Amino acid sequence: MKKPIIGVTPDYNAGDRTDMGGREPTYFLRARYLKAIEEAGGIPFMLPLLSNRVEWRQMVAHVHGLLLTGSGADLAPELYGERQRHTFRCMSRERATLELGITNVAYQADVPTLGICGGMQSINVALGGTLYQDIHAQLNTPLEHLPTHSATQTAHSIHIAPRSLLRRIARTACIEVNSSHHQSVKKVAPTLIQTAVAPDGVIEAIEAPDRLFVLGVQWHPEFLHDQDPVQRRLFRALVKASEKFVLTRR
Ligand code: MN
Repeated sequence: MKKPIIGVTPDYNAGDRTDMGGREPTYFLRARYLKAIEEAGGIPFMLPLLSNRVEWRQMVAHVHGLLLTGSGADLAPELYGERQRHTFRCMSRERATLELGITNVAYQADVPTLGICGGMQSINVALGGTLYQDIHAQLNTPLEHLPTHSATQTAHSIHIAPRSLLRRIARTACIEVNSSHHQSVKKVAPTLIQTAVAPDGVIEAIEAPDRLFVLGVQWHPEFLHDQDPVQRRLFRALVKASEKFVLTRR
């Protein structure tokens, strides 16, 4: 069987940063996302940040799965109907437009989708959910979700709901994950359910129970990939769902 093609969303500097190309508009993407897909048996394709629905439909028609990667910057709160009430850098309009748009198109077409960290937040917002703009300001939790240590180290546990997609992948109710976020899901989108929480109640995974495979995880499995088989199985599960999508839905 041919390997499934997994579209991967890149990060983008629109030319207003000092790093990542500076004044020159530049795409960038951590190689470990692509490596994780490759090692799971898929072929990763980096997606261009095109801006209209016709193009999103064409791109979705050419992939068998979708990986929404994490991002240093956050979605502009206006995208989920709020004013920005805390200080943070917003994602480029180009990336946010592509990510929210293609997530919707992929959802309608039942294309398997995995969202990581900011990618999970994009899935939730794309489908009508909202975010906490600043966990510590709004939730007053003592648990640190943005520790200073490397994302190759775990930071807190999560509890996984029984009978969920994530539970089938993890094969256990409680795992240790890394954490590199200061925002999190607030209102879960109407068609999604939360399937993992941190000990402080912060939502760490969301899923679409009526879809073949839609999973968002708030941590960064690509940084634990080499040391933890559960994290490798997340990417493998996306690739397997994409293989199934080819056989049954297209
Ligand atoms: Mn966390």
